[in-house]
Amino acid sequence: MKYISTRGGISPISFQEAVMMGLATDGGLLLPESIPEISAATIQAWRTLKYQDLAFEIISLFAGEIPAADLRGLINRSYAGFRHKEITPVVKHGELYILELFHGPTLAFKDIALQLLGNLFEYFLKEGNRHLNILGATSGDTGSAAIYGVRGKERIKIFILHPHKRVSRVQELQMTTVLDDNVFNLAILGTFDDGQAIVKEIFNDLPFKERHCLGAINSINWARILAQIVYYIYSYFRVCEQENCRQLDFTVPTGNFGDIFAGFLARRLLTPSRIRRLVLATNQNDILTRFVEDGDYSLGEVSQTCSPSMDIQLASNFERYLYFLNGQDAGQTRQQMEDFTAQGALHFSPEIRQRVQGDFQARRIGEAEVIRTIREFYELNDYVLDPHTAVGVAAGLRHKDTLPMICLSTAHSGKFGAAVGQAVGRQPLPEPLRELENKESRCEVVAADAAVIRAYLEEHDR
Ligand SMILES: *Cc1c(COP(=O)(O)O)cnc(C)c1O
Repeated sequence: MKYISTRGGISPISFQEAVMMGLATDGGLLLPESIPEISAATIQAWRTLKYQDLAFEIISLFAGEIPAADLRGLINRSYAGFRHKEITPVVKHGELYILELFHGPTLAFKDIALQLLGNLFEYFLKEGNRHLNILGATSGDTGSAAIYGVRGKERIKIFILHPHKRVSRVQELQMTTVLDDNVFNLAILGTFDDGQAIVKEIFNDLPFKERHCLGAINSINWARILAQIVYYIYSYFRVCEQENCRQLDFTVPTGNFGDIFAGFLARRLLTPSRIRRLVLATNQNDILTRFVEDGDYSLGEVSQTCSPSMDIQLASNFERYLYFLNGQDAGQTRQQMEDFTAQGALHFSPEIRQRVQGDFQARRIGEAEVIRTIREFYELNDYVLDPHTAVGVAAGLRHKDTLPMICLSTAHSGKFGAAVGQAVGRQPLPEPLRELENKESRCEVVAADAAVIRAYLEEHDR
């Protein structure tokens, strides 16, 4: 499989090149040249596979260049540390199925993709006899999933900036208790925005970036989307088995359009129409809901909610969907993204809107409804939702009809104790989070100054 850019500015590249490139060099996002069609016989044969074997079949379609035995090894290692033998189990509560994506090392769904991405990086770096220094800023959650994705890996060092004392205690400890030699936690005396600005400034210095082999680990890497396709198909089989059905719906809490775009591709793989609806759930940061409902994709102010990982107004994976919406026309996609950068808004015609609404239904869930959903779901089912999952469940309940509905659960409720406590009273911390307090931790507190971070990178490269 070859990969192209949504903006058409690169000649087709391999899977390896796509993973190592991250963002396409023309500013676009990388996508496979085509989406294969899976035959009914193949789908039948996949039904009984365990998670890792299904992942192998799906990922092979897009990464055929990796020898089969190597790819199996990479996948098995990526999911060996998960706490549930099914990796992503589906549980039924009331009329909904909850797809639990939080059994990885940091108790949130980003582990599923980042565990694989870390192993892919290590594998490709070894083949190319290269090394990589990952630099990133985090407001809390992505940092720990990235650190766990590459801890202890050869040829990789990771430098994560977080705002000193401005992340939750659990988030801080999830990062700073990782003591591997290749992990560097830097607590900057400033805000998350300061951290992002520093990272951006350093990445913009291309000679420095090249000299120190700097790379990012962000939500636009194709391998992350690919890893996420697997759990849609896995859970589809589990629920069809139980319900003896052929068709069902999904609800996905999303901010960057990443997770739901994986669902969009899963639906294309599972033709015809095995996945009927994809319900896109946002919190009050609703650029994606406005896009689906009104054809209005325009930046708003970011407001803080109790589902902070979805407090996003600029959906980094949106361009991938736009490319399909444009009938895979890269020229038009490039033009629209340039317009968006210039004006902060895109508007779509009623005909296009109708096509979008054929792909997605959308719903915005306000803060009061999130808290109410956590409380009511707990009272009815004795099951505690995290606030991100609750955004999805609230939307899922409104869109559920006669078909089974799977709601993606993106984090363990224990990670967001404050909001959950408000809804159902204080919950005991889950064991893996409780253990953190007793672990040794390591972190350096530094000035929020790009020159200081640069010097630190120079000193610790190699
Ligand atoms: C990142 C994240 C999301 C949103 O994922 P997208 O990539 O924006 O779709 C939802 N919930 C949690 C807990 C997350 O960490």
